[in-house]
Parts: sequence; C-alpha cells; structure tokens
Amino acid sequence: MPPVTKEKTHNSSMFSDAVLNWFDQHGRKHLPWQQDITPYKVWISEVMLQQTQVTTVIPYFKRFMASFPTVHDLAKASQDDVLHHWTGLGYYARARNLHKAANTLVEKYNGEFPYSLEEVMDLPGIGRSTAGAILSLSRNMRFPILDGNVKRVLARYYAIGGWPGQKKVENQLWEVAEKNTPTNSEGGRCANYTQVMMDLGAMICTRSKPKCDECPLQADCIAYAQGAQADYPGKKPKKALPEKSTFMMVAQFNSQVYLEQRPSTGLWGGLYGFIEVSSIEEGMEQLAKRGISVDETRTLEGFRHTFSHFHLDITPVVAVVNSAPTKRVAEMAFRWFSLNEPIEVGLAAPTTKIIQQLVR
Ligand code: SF4
Repeated sequence: MPPVTKEKTHNSSMFSDAVLNWFDQHGRKHLPWQQDITPYKVWISEVMLQQTQVTTVIPYFKRFMASFPTVHDLAKASQDDVLHHWTGLGYYARARNLHKAANTLVEKYNGEFPYSLEEVMDLPGIGRSTAGAILSLSRNMRFPILDGNVKRVLARYYAIGGWPGQKKVENQLWEVAEKNTPTNSEGGRCANYTQVMMDLGAMICTRSKPKCDECPLQADCIAYAQGAQADYPGKKPKKALPEKSTFMMVAQFNSQVYLEQRPSTGLWGGLYGFIEVSSIEEGMEQLAKRGISVDETRTLEGFRHTFSHFHLDITPVVAVVNSAPTKRVAEMAFRWFSLNEPIEVGLAAPTTKIIQQLVR
C-alpha cells in the first residue's frame, strides 16, 4: 500500500491539477447537455440526474428539450404535459418544481438565470449543489458542488467518516469541496473541475469496486491507503421500512380505463392514477359515487412498490363496466383513457405497471 502523504492531501491546487489532467484525457465531454451549454440545459440535466443514471436520463433529456427547448416553453407548458415527460423517472416533485421554477424565472428574471448563488437557490427544488453546478458548468463561476458522487470521492479521499446526511459530516465535506475548487488565478477551470468531480464519482470512484488503479487521486487517497474504500461514506442508519397495502380500482369500459388526477401535493401529486382504497367494498362504493356501475370484478397479480419511506403492497382490481358514466365528481379531474393509444399525461410507476398487465 502506498503511504499517505499528508502534505499533498491538503494541497488543494495539486488536487485540482491532478483531476483536471485526468479530465483532459478521460472526462465526459459528449453528453447531450454539454453541447452548446446553457444554464437551462444544465439545470434540467442536473435535476434529472439527482436520482437517476446518465444512460437512463439521456433519452428523457432529449425528449424534454425537444418539447421545451427554452425556459419560456417550459413555463408555458401545462403541468400535465411536464409530468408526462417525467413519467418513469420517479420523484415527481422534481418535475413540479421545475415547472414552478420556470415560471419564476420568466416572471422575475425574464427567462434568464440569475448570477448569484442565493438567487438560484431560491428557485423551487434547487439546493446549493445544483445551484453551484448550474453556475459553474454553464458560466465557469467558482462554486463548489456536493452531489452524491462528489461526496463519495471526497469522503474516501479524506477519510471523512459518518453518514453525509448528518449536518456535521456534510459541513466537513462542503469545506473540502470549497477548498479544492480552483480559483480563477489557477487558470479558471471551474466548469471542467465541477464536471470532472462528477465524472470521477460516476466512472472511477464508484459505490462498489472503485477503479482505484485508474484514479488520479490514488497517491494521496486515505481510504485507498487503508484499503477502507467500502467504509466511506458512512451508511445511513438502517430502519425497517413500514409496510402498507392498498387496492387500486381499475374501472374498465371496453378498451378504456378510468384514471383520476391526484391532488397536486403528496404522493404522486398531479399524476393520474387508479382510485386507491383499503378494501374492494370501499372501491365499489367509490365507483358508485362516481356513477360507475360495475358488472363484475377480478383481481390482477399484486406487486410491491417501495418508496424511500415505506413499502406499498398493491392489489389491482379490475371492475368491468358496461356503460361509461357521465356523472362528474366535483373538484376532481378524471378521464377515460384508451388502452390502444399512448396515454399522454403523467402516470406513477404502479399505474403504468397495471396498464401493462392489462394490455399484455
Ligand atoms: Fe476513490 Fe479509489 Fe480514487 Fe480513492 S483512490 S478517490 S477510493 S477511486
């Protein structure tokens, strides 16, 4: 094992030089959001990448940009349309916040991103790391970032223990992230530096089996020297997730299914879904309230959907109806959707899964 050289470990310009040299040879430069770079493109990609892998994000990003090429287009779009473009990515609050923030950008800043970190962070759904990424990647401004990838690299390199969700640990990580970001007097490569930190986390210092032999930081990395890569960053203390169960009433009239839009806040906010109930009897009552009379029911194969904070066991119940209802329930957006055509509204993953079972 190589010895840990403390002097080097604390030399921020050696750190940034090492990673920037690596970037010149190996860094990612051809991702769709890196072409004709703008704060808008960086913003959309960063938000999509928050919980999702690059390869999954690319087609979503391309479709999103084709439909909403500018902040103005995004602000003008309906929330339904934005959620539809997000269907399958999960964490739908991200899409609702994008839409809200686009409206703020148009109303307050004429569609341009502000230049101060604080003003960017004031936009819905944008934290310090995303704001830093937008400003540094698109304008080469000197702001550090600290997304999950960067946390892992820094936690290992400096052997910063503890779970980064704890304020104390996060503050330590921000401190070293700030220290290592190159200043303009060092050549002003803040955009490249931000990009390479994300690249190293995604390509080299991966969660399992990091490729330390290809890493430009290997010589001074404490976790590597100790063979303790797996110990950093510290894990979130585990709690058993609670289990809940629900029935989803799939009213089906010929080849159409009945979907209702959920309230804009809360679980699957603003998305369309099946009526959720705690028993089939309750489901029948709810359908009757909506003027839907059911001829027969059959249960489809149940499945589990896991959220970050609980498991939801879902039993889909198909309620076959003979005539489409006309009664409208006050304050509720509902529609019958054809199973033979693409459904162009936002759908939660379990809704899509049930529809797939129906058309199989
Ligand atoms: Fe990560 Fe290994 Fe590089 Fe250390 S040497 S930063 S553990 S990839």
